[in-house]
Amino acid sequence: MQQPYSRTESVWQRMDEAERAAVMAYGERYKAFLDAARTERLAARIILDKAEEAGFRPLYDMESLKPGDKVYWNQKGKSVILAVIGQEPVHAGLKIVGSHIDAPRLDLKGNPVHEQDGLVYFRTHYYGGIKKYQWPCIPLALCGVIYTKEGRKLTVNIGMDEKDPVFYITDLLIHLAQDQMKKTLADGVTGEQLQAVIGSLSDKDEKVKDAVLKLLKDRYGIEEEDFTSAELELVPAMKSRDVGFDRSLIAAYGQDDRVCSYANLEAILHAAPGEKTQVALFTDKEEIGSYGNTGMQSSYFAKFVMKLLALQQETSLIGFYETMENSEMLSADVNSCLDPMFPEVMEKDNCSLCGYGVALTKYTGARGKGGSNDANSEFIQKIRALFDAKGVGWQIGELGKIDQGGGGTIAFMLADWGCEVVDCGTAMLSMHSPYDLLHKADAYETCHAYKVFFESR
Ligand code: MN
Ligand code: MN
Repeated sequence: MQQPYSRTESVWQRMDEAERAAVMAYGERYKAFLDAARTERLAARIILDKAEEAGFRPLYDMESLKPGDKVYWNQKGKSVILAVIGQEPVHAGLKIVGSHIDAPRLDLKGNPVHEQDGLVYFRTHYYGGIKKYQWPCIPLALCGVIYTKEGRKLTVNIGMDEKDPVFYITDLLIHLAQDQMKKTLADGVTGEQLQAVIGSLSDKDEKVKDAVLKLLKDRYGIEEEDFTSAELELVPAMKSRDVGFDRSLIAAYGQDDRVCSYANLEAILHAAPGEKTQVALFTDKEEIGSYGNTGMQSSYFAKFVMKLLALQQETSLIGFYETMENSEMLSADVNSCLDPMFPEVMEKDNCSLCGYGVALTKYTGARGKGGSNDANSEFIQKIRALFDAKGVGWQIGELGKIDQGGGGTIAFMLADWGCEVVDCGTAMLSMHSPYDLLHKADAYETCHAYKVFFESR
């Protein structure tokens, strides 16, 4: 690309025909990933499968590490780390791209089956930040796992195949909604109302709930009590689609943060081995604060780095901190871009623009940058020079107007260990909705950015 940074010409305008074709081909691969990787467990499985195919091996099987070795860490099937060992020792620092594979959704409660006036429902508890009114009246798929009393694991994935049934949350008809319509958007549909219809048939003198439970027992061998040891998620069942006559955009569920996760995966699989060790991180639980033993606030990433060091005969605790001090990370999470229908929340000179490249965000946070990793200008300069040298279409973008709100990413957690970190990801529209929207050229440039970062010194 001639001019990697511009606020007047879109990435597409700056691309030649070969680059434009690459953008469209990337979009096809990315949509296939989105439609298969509906949950963190499914995403983790796909990432591990692709990594194993490419020659990555479990870190715990390794007896030593030499340059070019490819290893992975599977954190309870919900978070994954891939690494390609560099020419220099691990201690010299890592090139980390950190993305997350969880997304906002509706989880089932522990005792979810509920009959009301002849309809049977799943009660849900939403996960992550959602506008509750957006979730009724769309097809929902059920994905996850159930462990029966005896310990049998049942993997559930119902609703993504065209032939499958889906599940459905109702909303009030407009004709009777005069009271509802006076409520705020926050209150119009409540959390407890997000119950999905799962059945309505029964025989004479049989309760519908009993009939549905009997069907579950006959078909899947599960009892009602087995839901107490299940992790089931209702996720939008709509397939990813191209948007626009020119097919320039993609609408899909879960693009926060699977757009950066997919870019991260392609980047590490296709990057030339580097002087520094390359680390692609796909973490869980970002949407609820990175808690839990599959989230970024837990110790699994530190253990992974310590294990890499140990395999290169470096076992001191200070060795871990020195490694992190020597490391650099792109915090690979999405950003918002200017929505021309809602311009009032953006300051136009400093927000990301749709189709203008991968977004670098110096600080996230809210109000006075609260809770933010405020990236060092020295590091931003290094990344900027790299992107310019390699023709990566990029832009600088804040999440929104100063006092409108804010957001967080995993950036500050790795910065706590001394790592240089800057937020770098795809800007999107309708974030956290059941069907969000982004530009294919931005998704492509995100992957381009991560690849050149992995390969850089
Ligand atoms: Mn995110
Ligand atoms: Mn998010």
